[in-house]
Amino acid sequence: MAIEHFEVVIIGAGLSGIGAGYRLQTRCPDKRYVILEARNDLGGTWDLFRYPGVRSDSDMFTLGYPFRPWKGAKAIAGGPAILNYLCETAQEFGIERHIRFQHRVQSASWSSEDARWLLEVQAGADGEIRRFTCDFLYGCTGYYRYEAGYQPQFPGAARFRGRLVHPQQWPADLDYAGKRVLVIGSGATAVTLVPAMAGTAAHVTMLQRSPSYLLSLPTRDPLARLLRHALPERAASRAVRWKNILISVGIYQLSRRAPRFTRSLLRKIAMKSLPQGYEIEKHFNPKYEPWDQRLCLVPDADMFRAIRARRASVVTGQIESLTENGIRLQSGEELEADIIVSATGLQMLALGGVKLTVDGAPVHAGRAFVYKGVMLSNVPNFAFCVGYTNASWTLRADLSSTFVCRLLNYMDRRGHRTCMPACDPSSLEGRPLLNLTSGYVQRAAADLPKQGREKPWIIRQNYILDLLTMKLGRLKDGILKFGAPVRAARAEAPEGMRTASVADD
Ligand SMILES: Cc1cc2nc3c(=O)[nH]c(=O)nc-3n(C[C@H](O)[C@H](O)[C@H](O)COP(=O)(O)OP(=O)(O)OC[C@H]3O[C@@H](n4cnc5c(N)ncnc54)[C@H](O)[C@@H]3O)c2cc1C
Repeated sequence: MAIEHFEVVIIGAGLSGIGAGYRLQTRCPDKRYVILEARNDLGGTWDLFRYPGVRSDSDMFTLGYPFRPWKGAKAIAGGPAILNYLCETAQEFGIERHIRFQHRVQSASWSSEDARWLLEVQAGADGEIRRFTCDFLYGCTGYYRYEAGYQPQFPGAARFRGRLVHPQQWPADLDYAGKRVLVIGSGATAVTLVPAMAGTAAHVTMLQRSPSYLLSLPTRDPLARLLRHALPERAASRAVRWKNILISVGIYQLSRRAPRFTRSLLRKIAMKSLPQGYEIEKHFNPKYEPWDQRLCLVPDADMFRAIRARRASVVTGQIESLTENGIRLQSGEELEADIIVSATGLQMLALGGVKLTVDGAPVHAGRAFVYKGVMLSNVPNFAFCVGYTNASWTLRADLSSTFVCRLLNYMDRRGHRTCMPACDPSSLEGRPLLNLTSGYVQRAAADLPKQGREKPWIIRQNYILDLLTMKLGRLKDGILKFGAPVRAARAEAPEGMRTASVADD
């Protein structure tokens, strides 16, 4: 069977993979690239999630690409509008024709002999195995398992006579008009679902084990509206984008440095929108500090408005079991429901489940360290794309892609074929990759790469600092090792000096 070769293979045609395609074709126009996508369509997250009200929980001026500014009227946009934006971007820049759909990458094996990756890919409806080789591999696979979300085993689940659904696999035929809906969870998905369903359902109850921080923001950005009238489109978008970057960095820094102040501020904002005498202490006063877990956005205070209108309510308590008619809590309280939505989160998955090997040795993601948030220790010619947890994904994803292009151009200019962040993992003190206490992060921590305590092995979750490092930081930093394939090095090196490796540049 023929093996196809590309200079760069991108895995995944979601928001990151499409952005990576654009950056590659504009900054490294001579590189032949392909995007291998497991699903039938592009868009990743924004194609997969179909639950009512699915929307962004960060603003579209920063979630949109800097090279194709968001022109929509709403700063907080619905899933279909975001998917449409991604499809249009892929079409407009001819990225679509580089995508091979129904191509799930199963494994990637690096050979130092050849300085190449060999990819085994399950392709088409019948799952035939195809092989690809590439010089550089870029994983834009997102951060969670597509097949299924996280579904705890609730005692008595089989007894429940209504429908139990998970937002990741929303049944297209689910009719909730006039029904009693119980949403389990308190994260971004739950606070999106509750007001979205409240208009149609008889009543929606959000059942949470413990509260999350909610922040109400306007769906339409007043400054954006003003600047769009006053400035050319691009200049206006850039200004709003930077305003939002500074606000998100500011809120995060304030939360980490003055948690008590931020806590009371968020509480006051919530109090303003909730009915008088509401049990705010019980339902909206989290046990953790702001930004120990993601802050949940409520556009135009929609969640609070649904509570005020008595179309939705919040119950804080622990589930004892599901019953025929709903849920029994450990407190003895019974909640009746026709539909239970288990908004219990995602299952994180490192590198889209692709099995990596380097010269036959398996790469254990959980034992590797992350270099500048974009490469893996001791893995050559490989990068991956993960967004911020405290700001729009695209901010970080685009920095990663521009860094990859910068690296590829640097290697070309100097005639290098390989690059690898080298380290002795035992010399670094490992810390979890993500500094969130959320369940989905904690459950996956052992399988995710680690960060260290010092540059370039730390993840700063700070766009402004990352911008400087990724765009201006030296590539010749003593850690990134560059070189030629072993085979070429053997041929060129005089007898007695044959070395597989790779010199610092
Ligand atoms: C409901 C929801 C709402 C969100 N809202 C926001 C938000 O408002 N703001 C924000 O910043 N972030 C948000 N996120 C995070 C979100 O995932 C990112 O915004 C962004 O969509 C990630 O893009 P991605 O391309 O990196 O990953 P994904 O969107 O997950 O796309 C990854 C793609 O890679 C493909 N893939 C994976 N493994 C393989 C493989 N082995 N072989 C081939 N293809 C593979 C997948 O099929 C998929 O198409 C949200 C996430 C969810 C789940």
